[in-house]
Amino acid sequence: MASPDPARLSLNTATIREQWGLAQAIDGCARHGIRGIAPWRDQLAAMGVKEAVRAINAHGLTVTGLCRGGFFTAKDWQDDNRRAIEEAHALGAQCLVLGVGGLPAGSKDLEGARNEVNDGIAAILPEARQAGVPLAIEPLHPMQAAERACINTLEQALDLCDALGDGIGVAVDVYHVWWDPKLAQQIARAGKKRLLAYHICNWLVPTRDLLNDRGMMGDGVIDLPAIRGLVEGAGYKGFHEVEIFSRLDWWRRDPDEVLSICKDRHARMT
Ligand code: ZN
Repeated sequence: MASPDPARLSLNTATIREQWGLAQAIDGCARHGIRGIAPWRDQLAAMGVKEAVRAINAHGLTVTGLCRGGFFTAKDWQDDNRRAIEEAHALGAQCLVLGVGGLPAGSKDLEGARNEVNDGIAAILPEARQAGVPLAIEPLHPMQAAERACINTLEQALDLCDALGDGIGVAVDVYHVWWDPKLAQQIARAGKKRLLAYHICNWLVPTRDLLNDRGMMGDGVIDLPAIRGLVEGAGYKGFHEVEIFSRLDWWRRDPDEVLSICKDRHARMT
């Protein structure tokens, strides 16, 4: 496996969100020679879309995804997704990442929630296509089925893509899919057309917090070179987006140190 191209590294701003706002993250990427960035919408709103577009363009950064749309089982999903598509369009984002939402409060109807998600995506897809914003379904680890996403495998996500047609694909986040016995098969099935984003970090043993204890590349049990081999073997040529939620470690560090380590680990351990 050849080393990854350093120019393919992207920073998902969640990785340093406790330390930096979006303006600082953009400057940080420029300073460290990181060519891609994936902002979150709360930070985008705080900075202002216009100003963010200006700063991102001034540094020539590629927006590898906007996080996120989705949550189709929430009440205001339609307006919120419309705004998310507009923002992704303004940023020239390579995709709008969809965290599709889990069970509505009090519900035990998982199949019903999945049907709502299907209908919700079908409803916003025409607008996304018109805006030139590909939608990336991100299957989340099944431990998050109730609270965040009732689409939990690549196979489920790709079945949905096949039913919906063009303008939609998947975000492959190693943290969510590394355990899947069908991982290789489904990445091959996705192919270049459906592989819209590739998110990297690692799975720590033990994991101390199910949401916010992701590891740095090289620190956990996920075979990152093997998974990169699968996505690149399937034709993916996009960025490798570092996305680390880490209340106990990386959110407590100097963000310039975090970015330096991301670069080093990306080059050597992915
Ligand atoms: Zn992700």
